[in-house]
Amino acid sequence: MENPALTKPNTANTVELLANERNGCSFSTQAMDNFINGPEWIKMRNTAVAIIRKNPEIFDLTQVYFMDREQLLDKVMQTEAKIAQLLIDNKITHNEAVALSYFLDVSGPYRLHRSMFIPTLERQANDEQKKAFLEPARNYQILGCYAQTEMGHGSNIRGLETTATFVEEDDTFEINSPTLTSTKWWIGGLGLAATHACVMTQLIVKGKHYGLYPVIVPIRDPKTFKPYPGVNVGDIGPKMGFNSVDNGFANFQKVRVPRFNVLQRYINISRTGEVSLFKNVDPRVTYSTMVFVRANIVNNMGRELAKAVTITSRYTAVRKQGWANTTDEVPVLNYDIVQYRLIPLVAKTFAMLGMSHEFYAQYELCKNNIESGDFSLLKEMHAVSCGLKKWCSDTTIYGVDTCRHLCGGHGFSSFAGFSFSFNNLYPNIIWEGDNFVLAQQTARYLIKSALEVTESTGSKSADPTSLLLSRYTPENTMFSWKYSSVSQIANNMDLLLDLLAYRFSYFTHNLAKKIHVENQSWNDSLVEVQALSTVYSEYMICMYFKRHINKLSSANDIYQPLKNLYCVTALSFLLRNTGELYSLSSAAGIDHKFIANLEDELMRAIKLARTQLIPLVDSLGLPDEKLNSSLGRYDGKVYEDYMSRALMEPLNRKDSGTRIRDHLYKEYTGSILHSGKKQSRL
Ligand SMILES: Cc1cc2nc3c(=O)[nH]c(=O)nc-3n(C[C@H](O)[C@H](O)[C@H](O)COP(=O)(O)OP(=O)(O)OC[C@H]3O[C@@H](n4cnc5c(N)ncnc54)[C@H](O)[C@@H]3O)c2cc1C
Repeated sequence: MENPALTKPNTANTVELLANERNGCSFSTQAMDNFINGPEWIKMRNTAVAIIRKNPEIFDLTQVYFMDREQLLDKVMQTEAKIAQLLIDNKITHNEAVALSYFLDVSGPYRLHRSMFIPTLERQANDEQKKAFLEPARNYQILGCYAQTEMGHGSNIRGLETTATFVEEDDTFEINSPTLTSTKWWIGGLGLAATHACVMTQLIVKGKHYGLYPVIVPIRDPKTFKPYPGVNVGDIGPKMGFNSVDNGFANFQKVRVPRFNVLQRYINISRTGEVSLFKNVDPRVTYSTMVFVRANIVNNMGRELAKAVTITSRYTAVRKQGWANTTDEVPVLNYDIVQYRLIPLVAKTFAMLGMSHEFYAQYELCKNNIESGDFSLLKEMHAVSCGLKKWCSDTTIYGVDTCRHLCGGHGFSSFAGFSFSFNNLYPNIIWEGDNFVLAQQTARYLIKSALEVTESTGSKSADPTSLLLSRYTPENTMFSWKYSSVSQIANNMDLLLDLLAYRFSYFTHNLAKKIHVENQSWNDSLVEVQALSTVYSEYMICMYFKRHINKLSSANDIYQPLKNLYCVTALSFLLRNTGELYSLSSAAGIDHKFIANLEDELMRAIKLARTQLIPLVDSLGLPDEKLNSSLGRYDGKVYEDYMSRALMEPLNRKDSGTRIRDHLYKEYTGSILHSGKKQSRL
């Protein structure tokens, strides 16, 4: 369908408005991009975007908004096959493949192969098993998934029912799903694509139960693609979103796999069924893959919120609504309330991306230590990764929704670019540990650490969290901010961080006392547990973000904008729930006036960020292909793109539109219009 409106002038001047926003920027967007995304990511981005642009017949996904599930799977499998081929031909690396999937913005059936199956093998397989499974997995000779969740159990993994029982006679393990509820469920890649599953099982050897261990179970014959005998496998059906992924189910009727298939990096099972656990192995090492996956989620969440804030900043900068004077209408971004809703999200995006560099570095350190037998960092890493996964996914998912709302009615159109990503992102608050459950892991670690600090006997941990808990005991009256004005505090990264550290320490000691002195039950503590996990994670975000910013000289032209974004982040954390600030010890000097002044400081910092908002989001470096959005286009041609996409709607297309309309008219509308009531009452 054509529309003459497209040839008429665009009086909203969106292109000029957006270009003007980019004038007079005080910093280099390229340098900012380099700092916040890192050179490695930028290299991968360049490779990915070049491939997407070189192969539009495969990678142009502008049509996905019109597709049903079958069409979507077909399109996504086409992209997956191409990515796999590029990998097999050594044209791209594994990380570039991950980046390519990210920029395409539509998940496919091989996603879990890359993000869970391969990482599990990397961490939990011994050298021989790596040869047998990891190498073919990397070459796409086998396709895997990660099958942990069952129909009856998700959060409580100890309740999983699938068993792997050693059968000495033929040197195998028998995989069995004893009940309906033991059916593996929700498993990405299993419904359609996987040849193998990494199945989490209750390991039983000679009648003894050893807990949960991963076993590689062949699912479908790669030659015929038929399921192996005893494996009942399928797709779990339509979901609220994420329908381009084949989440599947499987149950196993006494399926035997070689003993070799039990991943044995940290456990050894001999031919005669002797089980040895390697010395000094922390029992949670089996879950170290989850720490890695959570670290990835944390990083991805920043990248996904980057998409939403880029679209929203650009659109609100050109969307005019309301008169400033008799001739000019105001871009909605100039309304304080729009800035107040949007700019803290932009700041948190930078915080997530910035802190991810440092968090990954810490994860790498922890991983390397584990490889040399030192597990001392794992406890804190596990707790931090749980808290950050919860915080980052909550912030991103609800942040994307806020962005959608900020764009008004047009935000509700698929062409805005939010609907698909919101639905696809949403499971991040559920998988890899439901967020409300993960918060408990973080809080348990904190309460235990607080107890160690306050008890006079026993070994004391020297991890950074414990040191802070020792510094800010309930008796402490030394506060670094005590002799500074609110304005000085609000502009000082160290003082803001001290406030955040004090807040989480105070909450921790308080809850530890309730539980250990006043015998408050864990169940009765669950509301406070959520708050504790949040305040701890907010501290961690700022601590890592500051560490990253401090790598810059203060003379660098990107330093001040970053420092301001840090201040917006920290202030919005402190002011998220002012009740929390009022509940702190009066010795800390935080009273009504202090809080009111902090609120003024937050608004001042937001307004400062507004002046360069568009260059800031440009620095996030998202190409139009990732945004797939009329509202967020780099060139500001919002309305032209919007109308062009609407004309592509099948209802409007010449062939399909006529057919659909004729059918509906013939079947329903025509007969209604013409039957009418024999006699009108009027
Ligand atoms: C799109 C999608 C893809 C997935 N992909 C995979 C995959 O590839 N592989 C895989 O193994 N799994 C996968 N999962 C499963 C996912 O990991 C689980 O859904 C998740 O761990 C939550 O478990 P559950 O569904 O059993 O929820 P439940 O544990 O039943 O939770 C139900 C409710 O109870 C609350 N709750 C549970 N326990 C507690 C507690 N102790 N204290 C307080 N509250 C509690 C939760 O907060 C939640 O609100 C996927 C899920 C989704 C939605």
